[in-house]
Amino acid sequence: MRTNRGFDSDDDRWAAVKARDAEADGKFWSCVVTTGVYCRPSCPARPKRQNVRFAASPADARAAGFRACKRCRPDEA
Ligand SMILES: [Zn+2]
Repeated sequence: MRTNRGFDSDDDRWAAVKARDAEADGKFWSCVVTTGVYCRPSCPARPKRQNVRFAASPADARAAGFRACKRCRPDEA
Protein backbone atom coordinates (compact mmCIF):
# COMPACT_ATOMS: atom_id res chain seq x y z
CA MET A 1 0.00 0.00 0.00
CA ARG A 2 1.36 3.40 -0.94
CA THR A 3 0.39 6.49 1.00
CA ASN A 4 1.79 9.91 1.74
CA ARG A 5 1.58 9.51 5.48
CA GLY A 6 4.33 11.04 7.54
CA PHE A 7 5.05 7.86 9.49
CA ASP A 8 4.41 9.73 12.75
CA SER A 9 3.33 6.75 14.78
CA ASP A 10 5.26 3.60 15.57
CA ASP A 11 2.41 1.59 14.07
CA ASP A 12 2.80 3.44 10.77
CA ARG A 13 6.57 2.97 10.88
CA TRP A 14 6.30 -0.70 11.64
CA ALA A 15 3.82 -1.17 8.80
CA ALA A 16 6.37 0.42 6.46
CA VAL A 17 9.15 -1.85 7.74
CA LYS A 18 6.99 -4.93 7.25
CA ALA A 19 6.14 -3.80 3.71
CA ARG A 20 9.78 -2.80 2.96
CA ASP A 21 8.30 0.49 1.87
CA ALA A 22 11.04 2.39 0.02
CA GLU A 23 9.01 5.58 0.37
CA ALA A 24 9.78 5.47 4.08
CA ASP A 25 13.54 5.53 3.45
CA GLY A 26 14.94 8.81 4.71
CA LYS A 27 11.91 9.48 6.93
CA PHE A 28 12.93 7.29 9.83
CA TRP A 29 15.35 4.50 10.67
CA SER A 30 14.69 1.25 12.44
CA CYS A 31 17.04 0.19 15.23
CA VAL A 32 17.21 -3.47 16.20
CA VAL A 33 18.07 -3.84 19.86
CA THR A 34 19.09 -7.50 19.59
CA THR A 35 21.71 -6.89 16.88
CA GLY A 36 22.66 -3.28 17.68
CA VAL A 37 22.28 -2.13 14.09
CA TYR A 38 20.06 0.46 12.48
CA CYS A 39 18.47 0.07 9.07
CA ARG A 40 16.48 1.70 6.35
CA PRO A 41 12.81 0.76 6.47
CA SER A 42 13.29 -1.13 3.20
CA CYS A 43 16.14 -3.30 4.53
CA PRO A 44 15.70 -7.02 3.78
CA ALA A 45 16.51 -7.86 7.41
CA ARG A 46 13.35 -9.01 9.20
CA PRO A 47 13.51 -8.08 12.89
CA LYS A 48 10.77 -8.90 15.35
CA ARG A 49 8.48 -6.03 16.28
CA GLN A 50 9.40 -6.12 19.97
CA ASN A 51 13.09 -5.72 19.11
CA VAL A 52 12.68 -2.64 16.94
CA ARG A 53 12.99 0.97 18.04
CA PHE A 54 12.65 3.92 15.69
CA ALA A 55 15.03 6.83 15.19
CA ALA A 56 14.45 10.13 13.40
CA SER A 57 17.94 10.20 11.89
CA PRO A 58 21.08 8.06 11.58
CA ALA A 59 22.77 10.43 14.04
CA ASP A 60 20.06 9.71 16.60
CA ALA A 61 20.51 5.98 16.06
CA ARG A 62 24.27 6.25 16.54
CA ALA A 63 23.79 8.39 19.63
CA ALA A 64 21.64 5.59 21.04
CA GLY A 65 24.53 3.16 20.51
CA PHE A 66 23.52 1.54 17.22
CA ARG A 67 25.77 1.03 14.20
CA ALA A 68 24.90 1.14 10.51
CA CYS A 69 23.60 -2.06 8.90
CA LYS A 70 25.98 -3.49 6.30
CA ARG A 71 23.14 -4.76 4.13
CA CYS A 72 21.07 -1.63 3.55
CA ARG A 73 23.74 1.04 4.22
CA PRO A 74 21.38 3.42 6.02
CA ASP A 75 23.86 6.33 6.00
CA GLU A 76 23.61 6.67 2.23
CA ALA A 77 20.60 8.80 1.45
ZN1 LIG B 1 19.68 -3.06 7.20
